[in-house]
Amino acid sequence: MKHCPNPECRGLKKFRIISEYEDAVEVCADCGADLVPGPAPQVPDKDPLAPSPDPDLELATLVVTRNESELLVLQSLLEAAGIPYLCRGEQIQDLFGFGRLVAVNPITGPVEVQVPATDLPAAQRILAEREENHD
Ligand SMILES: [Zn+2]
Repeated sequence: MKHCPNPECRGLKKFRIISEYEDAVEVCADCGADLVPGPAPQVPDKDPLAPSPDPDLELATLVVTRNESELLVLQSLLEAAGIPYLCRGEQIQDLFGFGRLVAVNPITGPVEVQVPATDLPAAQRILAEREENHD
């Protein structure tokens, strides 16, 4: 058993668990870091059932939409770019954890997509590029 020691690992940030690998694997599939022997330690001070964003993190609204397919496209774009995000809306009472956009019920109200303020320019650029590449 090996695990990824990288505290900045994308897999860790996304799933809040440290990736474990078979002994034959040399590098982390998520971040490319060299793996270290042994099972993964518990991620400290994070409750996987109640992920909450850093309270000090300044969030900026990227877009407000009530289009579910648009949300899914946004999700894939932001994930591909490695930008964390969260969504909130009338029908989504709870703050979703970063990287988790799973609407149990169909979206019926506007949903606000927020990203860290520091990532906003990059996120906006991604959206603008997508608009340009549209048909
Ligand atoms: Zn990793």
